[in-house]
Amino acid sequence: MTDCLFCKMVAGDIKPDIVFEDDHILAFSDINPQAPVHFLVIPKRHITTLNDLDDVQIGGRILQVAVDLAKQQGIAEAGYRTVFNCNNNGGQAVYHLHLHLLGGRPMAWPPG
Ligand code: AMP
Ligand code: ZN
Repeated sequence: MTDCLFCKMVAGDIKPDIVFEDDHILAFSDINPQAPVHFLVIPKRHITTLNDLDDVQIGGRILQVAVDLAKQQGIAEAGYRTVFNCNNNGGQAVYHLHLHLLGGRPMAWPPG
């Protein structure tokens, strides 16, 4: 999708701080981190929202990359949060599916 911020990252037109990449997945640092560790894990293929997820392989890969990054970052044992924001009430601002990985501090619950 030409008009999509995260597709531009996949295409290399915008260069995020990449922490993981393979044929299907890109993960990078959130530009406005809400925790000491705040990464976004995205499918390279444009999927607009979680409602549009039609591929269990991609869903599983996104989750696995988040877990692997949490372990690499040394936050897995202490704990962390993963979040898919979906549509307006979910607080989604960028309409390309992404999983937030947040950790490195205690996360409040419930969120706002
Ligand atoms: P969401 O509200 O779930 O759609 O989250 C979108 C996230 O994308 C926010 O946490 C933003 O800080 C993040 N974001 C927006 N622009 C960029 C960018 N250029 N590089 C990295 N993260 C970004
Ligand atoms: Zn996109």
